[in-house]
Parts: sequence; structure tokens; C-alpha cells
Amino acid sequence: MSDCLFCKIIAGEIPSNRVYEDDLVFAFRDIAPQAPTHILVVPKAHLDSCNAVTADNSQVVAHIFEVIPAIAKAEGLEGGYRVVSNCGADAGQTVQHLHFHILGGKPLALEMA
Ligand code: AMP
Ligand code: ZN
Repeated sequence: MSDCLFCKIIAGEIPSNRVYEDDLVFAFRDIAPQAPTHILVVPKAHLDSCNAVTADNSQVVAHIFEVIPAIAKAEGLEGGYRVVSNCGADAGQTVQHLHFHILGGKPLALEMA
């Protein structure tokens, strides 16, 4: 995806504050943090959103959910954290590359909408 912001970040064409990387996954700090710790975890292979997850590619999502606790531990989020993926316009998705927000570092408000 040549015109995708997160694909460019993964490729190193746009700088980011990387916190984790492996063959399948890239994680970096959100540029506009909504909590003391705010990290985005994305698959390296472009998927538009949760709606693009299928039986053929869901392994990367399972892997992301193995990586997330490791990142949370490394970030010292012993008190807990929230994982969010916005899917589509009504959820406020602004970057059309599947990503999971890790939010933590303080007690978070409970409002979901
Ligand atoms: P969403 O609104 O769920 O699509 O989340 C997109 C997130 O990407 C927002 O929290 C933005 O602050 C974040 N973001 C946008 N551009 C960058 C960037 N260049 N580096 C890091 N995070 C970014
Ligand atoms: Zn992309």
C-alpha cells in the first residue's frame, strides 16, 4: 500500500518511535498520546481494518495479542491497560491500516462511546 501512513512507518520512510518489531508486527508510540502510555501495534502486512481479518490472515491478529502483553509488561503497565481497535467511520478510524491501541499508565475513564 504505497499511500498508507502506517505502511510508510513500517518501511522506515516516515520516522516513528518504535517500541517493538518482529517479522509480522511493528509497534510504535502514538504521536498524539491519549494516556501516559499510548502505543500502536500493527501488522506489517497491510490490512484496512478489523473488517479485513479472515481465516487466511487471522494468525497475525493472534500474534499481535501475544505481543501486546509482552509490550505491556516491558512498559510497566502492571496496573492494567486497554486495547482498542477503531473500525470504520463511526468508530473514528483515521488511519486505514489495522492497528491496536495500547493505552495505560493511569486509571482510564470507562466511557466507551
Ligand atoms: P485511529 O483514530 O484509531 O485510526 O488511530 C490512528 C492513530 O494514529 C491516532 O491515535 C493518531 O494519533 C496516530 N497517528 C497518526 N499519525 C501518526 C504518526 N505519524 N506516528 C504515530 N502515530 C500517529
Ligand atoms: Zn498500510
